Amino acid sequence: MPTFIVLLGPPGVGKGTQAELIAEATGLPHISSGDLFRENIKNTTELGKLAQAYMNKGELVPDDVTISMIRSRLSRPDCKEGALLDGFPRTTVQADSLANLLTEFNGKVNFVPYITASESTLIERLSGRWTCKAQGHIFHEKHNPPHKPGVCDFDASELYQRDDDKAETVKRRIQVYLTQTAPLITYYRQLGLLSEIDGTQPIEKVTEALMAVLGKIA
Ligand code: AMP
Repeated sequence: MPTFIVLLGPPGVGKGTQAELIAEATGLPHISSGDLFRENIKNTTELGKLAQAYMNKGELVPDDVTISMIRSRLSRPDCKEGALLDGFPRTTVQADSLANLLTEFNGKVNFVPYITASESTLIERLSGRWTCKAQGHIFHEKHNPPHKPGVCDFDASELYQRDDDKAETVKRRIQVYLTQTAPLITYYRQLGLLSEIDGTQPIEKVTEALMAVLGKIA
């Protein structure tokens, strides 16, 4: 049976950073819907053009478009053993679709670690975040700085600040999270899959807590 993990939590809580570490430890592919959209924007695809309009405003890309993008990503052979989903699902419609989709792959959502932090922590984290142009590796100028400012430790590409990490858009993204994504907390709790993790701890502690939740597969 494949293993599917849904990493849940507000924007800026550290999902991307943790997903990279957990993917490395478990060997599961890290699938970030935001990264997939950004890749499409970089390659100026039709999907990228459509997504950009929503992303720049901090709004969600429509469900049908997002679901079909994830469906095609999960159909790739590297997801045979499962995947680590970061940023998807973000609505209950997406969560229902994911459940249906995974039955096609003889799988289901196995774990939902939910990483938490206060709103002021999220704003501070997002405004200090630097992202690598080549592969989306994530740094923070204070909490997780690169060895050389402005340069990715992993592939030496340039670091940039995402447009949607600017103050006004950040506030909207948090609002969108609270109204559209937070209902997933109850959704997955009712299914007995949710494990809450304090995201204000140092990065290594959050990873340890995550690995403890995923203990059965790591
Ligand atoms: P992220 O990198 O996860 O913070 O996502 C950046 C932006 O991409 C979000 O603010 C949305 O505009 C869009 N996005 C990412 N994942 C989804 C999703 N599952 N559903 C709708 N929009 C998404």
